[in-house]
Amino acid sequence: MQREENNRPGGAFRGHTPRAEQTDAVQQAQNRSRSLSEAELIDVFQQLAGPGTIPRFLRLRQELLDWNTRVNLTAITDPTEVLLKHFLDSLSLLEVYGAERARVLDIGAGAGFPGLPLKIARSQWEVVLLEATGKKVNFQRHIIETLGLHTIEAIHGRAEALAHKPAYRASFDLVTARAVASLPVLLEYAAPFCRPGAQILLPKKGELSAELEQGKRAARVLGVAFKADYPVTLPGLNDGRRILVWEQVKPCPAQYPRSGAAMAKKPLG
Ligand code: SAM
Repeated sequence: MQREENNRPGGAFRGHTPRAEQTDAVQQAQNRSRSLSEAELIDVFQQLAGPGTIPRFLRLRQELLDWNTRVNLTAITDPTEVLLKHFLDSLSLLEVYGAERARVLDIGAGAGFPGLPLKIARSQWEVVLLEATGKKVNFQRHIIETLGLHTIEAIHGRAEALAHKPAYRASFDLVTARAVASLPVLLEYAAPFCRPGAQILLPKKGELSAELEQGKRAARVLGVAFKADYPVTLPGLNDGRRILVWEQVKPCPAQYPRSGAAMAKKPLG
């Protein structure tokens, strides 16, 4: 597992300390090799997000599975798998990002992952969900209203366009995107939204040494530095998942992001 140690940008990036802080419930669950029951998963949620958040997570699951019978939102339809592979997987970002307050962007949020679980767990965060497909944005807006969430916005649009709008450019503390594109494209989407010092957290799974090298080359052009390759070890998720941590070390040059066609024709990296 690759890692770059001793890279702790001020404040938000938690480096590798959180495991030492993990509670008994999380550690006991980690030690189990069998599948986790729903009750065990909820116990872990309580530790990570707080006991008051559980009704919102359960309502989000109910709405997701209900909407999914009419609108194609997710291939995961087993209720316990939703808790694990959508909700807990989203919350794994909290293992590496510990700021109490942050302006957060989720690019290509789909049905709202990881942005919605993060907002439920950290109500004081200001969250923007960005999604190119209208029916998914409709679901996000339904959830925002149904759960009574504040300081969260669901935008129907594309990263290539929104990043050139002054209200959004260089204005975020944390940018993330799960299962949206390859690393050079993700970094070209994400960097223009970052204020200097901001973190880009990209969940990934599997072998990606070649993609990571391409990502590092793209990062140099975009004013971004690679910080860490953080293995996820939350219960039920210790299957090769990791979070790639990047930092915006200087402003992203104004010409990025390019159009989708230009990115496809000549990817950075
Ligand atoms: N992040 C969600 C998740 O992990 O469940 C959804 C992943 S889904 C595979 C990728 C999503 O990214 C799609 O909903 C797609 O519409 C959206 N997307 C792809 N390119 C985008 C772009 N340039 N700007 C905004 N959304 C984009």
